[in-house]
Order: sequence, then C-alpha cells, then structure tokens
Amino acid sequence: MPIYNAPTKDMQFLLHDVLKISESDIPGYDELDRDFTAAILGEAGKIAEQVLAPLNPVGDEEGCVLANGVVRTPKGFKEAYDQMRDGGWMGLDADPEYGGQGMPYLMGSATGEMFVSSNMAFNMYQGLTHGAYSTIRAHGTDQQKATFLPNMIEGKWSGTMNLTEPHCGTDLGLIRTKAEPQDDGSYKITGQKIWISAGEHDMADNIIHLVLAKIPGGPEGVKGISLFIVPKFLVNEDGTLGDRNGVSCGGLEKKMGIHGNATCVMNHDGATGYLLGEMHKGMRAMFTMMNEARLGVGLQGYAQGVVAYQNAVAFAQDRLQGRDVTGVKNPDGPADPIIVHPDVRRNLLMQKSFVEGARMFVFWGAEMIDRALRCEDADADAMISLLTPVIKGFLTDMGFETTVLAQQTLGGSGFTREWGLEQFVRDARITMIYEGTNGIQSLDLVGRKLGLNGGKTIMAFFEMVKGFIKDNEDHAELKSDFLDPLKAASKDLQTAGMYFMQNMKNPNAALSGSYDFMHLFGHVCLGLMWGHMAKASLAALEAGTADEEFHRTKLATGRFYMTRQLPATAVHLARIQSGDAPVMTLDAANF
Ligand SMILES: Cc1cc2nc3c(=O)[nH]c(=O)nc-3n(C[C@H](O)[C@H](O)[C@H](O)COP(=O)(O)OP(=O)(O)OC[C@H]3O[C@@H](n4cnc5c(N)ncnc54)[C@H](O)[C@@H]3O)c2cc1C
Repeated sequence: MPIYNAPTKDMQFLLHDVLKISESDIPGYDELDRDFTAAILGEAGKIAEQVLAPLNPVGDEEGCVLANGVVRTPKGFKEAYDQMRDGGWMGLDADPEYGGQGMPYLMGSATGEMFVSSNMAFNMYQGLTHGAYSTIRAHGTDQQKATFLPNMIEGKWSGTMNLTEPHCGTDLGLIRTKAEPQDDGSYKITGQKIWISAGEHDMADNIIHLVLAKIPGGPEGVKGISLFIVPKFLVNEDGTLGDRNGVSCGGLEKKMGIHGNATCVMNHDGATGYLLGEMHKGMRAMFTMMNEARLGVGLQGYAQGVVAYQNAVAFAQDRLQGRDVTGVKNPDGPADPIIVHPDVRRNLLMQKSFVEGARMFVFWGAEMIDRALRCEDADADAMISLLTPVIKGFLTDMGFETTVLAQQTLGGSGFTREWGLEQFVRDARITMIYEGTNGIQSLDLVGRKLGLNGGKTIMAFFEMVKGFIKDNEDHAELKSDFLDPLKAASKDLQTAGMYFMQNMKNPNAALSGSYDFMHLFGHVCLGLMWGHMAKASLAALEAGTADEEFHRTKLATGRFYMTRQLPATAVHLARIQSGDAPVMTLDAANF
C-alpha cells in the first residue's frame, strides 16, 4: 500500500515564513495566524492520510460502474464524500452569503493539494463542483444563485462542465449541441457531450451540468456559443427536487487512469436548460470555470508528484542494493540502501526540488488570486491570467515527469502494482491533456497572454523579478547561489520574448517555439520561488532557528534546482531561436 504524509510543515513554512500571510493587507488574511492554519491543515491532512489515501487504490481497481443509467462509484467513495461534506470541506473558500466558510483561495489550494495527492479521482467530484459554483456565482442571476449555490457549497448537489463533443475538443467553435428557446424563457438542449468528468454518480442528490450549446440563428463559431445550467433533476420553486430532466449518462469511458472518477458520455435529449450569463457570450462565462480549472489541474500535476516522491524516498531508504562507492554505509547488511548512490540521489532531488518549488508557485499564485478578488486589484488579476497557462502546462508536464522519475527510483517495483507508483503515473497523465492540452496552453501564453495589456503585464513580471534581485543582492550567499542564476534565466526569458516580438510577421516562428517558451517561463518562475524560499531560510538560520535541519535541507534542495534544473532555460532559448524551419520544413506526407 502506498504511503501519504500530509506536508503540513512545509506548507506552514511557505504560508508564514515566506509569504508571511498574517501580515498581508488582503482582507481575511489577518485571521490566518500560525495556530489557525496549523489547525486547518492538520485536520485536512488527517482526512487525506486516513480516509482518502486508503481509497485511492480501491478506486483504481474497482472503477465506476454504469447500470440502468446510474453510475456506482467505488466502495467507500460515498462514505468519504459524506465525511468531506459534513466536515464543511466543500465550501471552505466559498462565499458565506451562500453558506460557504469564506476562507481565502490560498487555504483552498493548500488543503486541495492534500486531497489531490491522496486521491485525485475522488477529489475531482468536488473540484468540478467548485468550478461550476464559481461560474454561477460570477454570471448567474440572483435567483439562479439562490437556487443552486447553497446546495453546491454544501455538497448536496455536485457540478460538471459539458464542453467536449465527439468531433470537437480544442476547437469548440464546432460544437453542434442545440439550445432552442421556449416560451417560458428556458431552452431545450439537444446534443451529445463526451468525456464529462463526474457527469453521473451516486454521491450527490442532484448534478448541475454547465453546458455549452448554440442557439439556432446565432453567429457562427465561438461567437455563437451560449452557456446553460442543466440540472439532472429539475428544481421546484420551493427548492425541492422535481422531475428527472432529459439528460442522462449514455456510457462510461474505459481509460488509462483516474478510474475512480466517472468519465461520462452525456446525452441531452431536449433537456431543460437555463441561460447562464449573456446569450452568445458562453465562452466568456465558461472561461471563469476553465481558468479556475486550469489552476486546479496545475495543482493536480504537482500534487501527484508529491505523493509519488514520498513513496520513492521511502523505497530508496529501505531497498538494499550495491555498496556506496566511497565506503560501506550499512556494514551489518548485505548491501547499502540505494539512497547512497549518486544517480538515485539525482533522481530524488529532481523530484524534491520540483515539488517544493511547485508548491510555492501555486501558493504564490493563490495569494495573487486572493489579491485580485478581495482587493479588486486589476494588476494581480492580469498577472495570474498571464501565469495560468504556465501553471497548468509546466506544472503538469513536470508533475507527470516527477511521477515517472519516482517510478524509476523503485526499479521493477515501480512498474508492478503493489507499490502504487504506476497508478500515480497513469493518474497524472491526464493533467497534461484535459482543460486544454499543454500545447494549447503554450499557444494561449504566446498568442494571447504575452500581449496582455499591450505587453505591460509581462513587463511587470520582468520588473518584479528584477526588483526581487536588486532588493536582495546585498546578501552574498543568496546572490551567488540563487539570484545570479535567476538573473541569467530571466535574461533568457526576455531574449525569447524579444525573439517573438521581432518575428511577429511569421506566426509559425512563434508557434514553433511556444512550448519551449512555456517551459522556459515555468523554470524562471520556479527559480524565483526558490529565491524567495532561500531568502526565508537564510533569514531563519541567521536569526538562530530551532529547526536548523529543515532550513539547511531547504537551501540544499534549492541549490540543486538552481544549478541542475534552471540552466534548462538556455536549451529552451536555443530551440526558440532556431525558428520555424526545423519544425515546418517537412511536407505532411513525409512524416
Ligand atoms: C479523462 C478525461 C476527462 C475529461 N473531462 C472533461 C470534462 O469534464 N468536460 C469536458 O468538456 N471535457 C472533458 N475532457 C475533454 C478534454 O478537455 C479534451 O480531451 C481536451 O481539451 C483536448 O481535446 P481533444 O481530445 O478533442 O483533442 P483535439 O482537439 O482533437 O486535439 C488533438 C491534438 O491536436 C492538438 N491541437 C488541436 N488544435 C490545435 C491547434 N490549433 N494548434 C496546435 N495544436 C492543436 C492538441 O494539442 C492535441 O494534442 C476530458 C477528457 C478526458 C480524457
């Protein structure tokens, strides 16, 4: 059975020593003192370790079963769902006006990491509900909000997003699902959606589908798409559940991973739907859900890396093979634990330095979201918008790679089922695909986000990095080990940005390098995060901390990232500067 240990200590370090959240001016942060966050993280960690993690292999083995139109989730899921609901975890960061606890998004991210590491397939039911909740809250009428939000926040009703159709996933302008206006102001929705996560299940009393469809006679392509609320059970005026709506699960996908999550074909047969937001502006409204989901998927990527790494370390401390080349370390045993070998350590440090950097990146991004929402700060909103494709694309690519590295640490035991590593690899793989493939994230980054606010947002990012370096370069150790490498990497990013500006007339040049740009950007962000963490650890050591080992470990892990991982920016830059010729020369027939 795989292990999972909630990383509450590292989270507390990030929240209080690095981000210093209780000193922040963001409304609500003043309540987040050390004891308070320790209590929340402690409780969430207990559920993750004791309830969700043991169910992870069960969900993988059993999967979901469809019988007579009803999807049965794996054994134990319903009880765990009830426990999450009773504990108020589903509405942790939701609006108190509708029954939520009103905690900052940051705390939702911290607890979310634990829930995803321990059981990603299970957590998706709740994750999709949260996205649907946010979309209705942002775009719904008062009546829609009053009808749907309290039940969704409580977890009595769950949510989905219905975008994909058999002939279109990326290019949603092609969707065929129709929405015909009715005299009472509602719509009849007809069409088939596929691969709908949490589309049907037995854990909630009602399922609220958010469905993209076209109203006949509207504009062609994406400009003619509207968004609709389609409940599984219609809701009576008094709030009780009414008739079954014309939406049903037509099949479950057999798939590589996340077996515990029902991936459904959803048939809409003249189902009653209610317009959400403005007519023909469905994509805009859906972007509320997609942006939130993209950040959530970025979190999924590294969170799978976290649990995979923990299991790799446990194995490496225990497995005896070969002897340390510099001298025997375990004289009483037949061999030394494999953690003595430089190549195993390299492998483990690639995992460790990524997951700790990624956690900081997601917390830092979550704080930015809180600033954008709670302070109505347009600059923070623009910055997180710029970073969203980086968080989604880079963290899921590297998160998946981390699970594979962890699998490698276990040798043959990583490939067989018992240790659980192969499940983490399979589960992590989807994060690179859904919510817009990572290729599409890179197009979004280069095609749309670079030019955001006339390029002011990316310039603000460079200024922020420059400012951090300048403000801290008096510290010799921080400068040589962290700030100098960060400066070089950031210069590579700026040079790549300039390359795109200078080659704007040739879109193939930008698009041939967009994926490398996304990774280059991701590395610079993680370099910046390690700079922040190193600063906090050096300060703690200089002040005489009681936890010297923690901070020395943090610094050594950060140095590994800065010296062994961050130089990848030069390779990405070289690829970008090679332009479109290496990519575009072959005729399609010659592939
Ligand atoms: C397990 C699972 C769960 C899912 N959950 C949901 C859900 O809850 N709701 C929902 O609506 N959908 C869901 N999806 C669908 C998912 O979001 C899509 O699979 C994804 O967006 C990609 O679309 P596609 O599969 O049609 O690939 P395609 O659009 O066919 O793309 C195929 C390949 O071509 C590339 N490509 C396409 N267009 C371009 C372009 N213009 N430029 C460069 N490259 C391009 C893509 O990057 C990709 O590599 C789920 C899918 C899976 C497998």
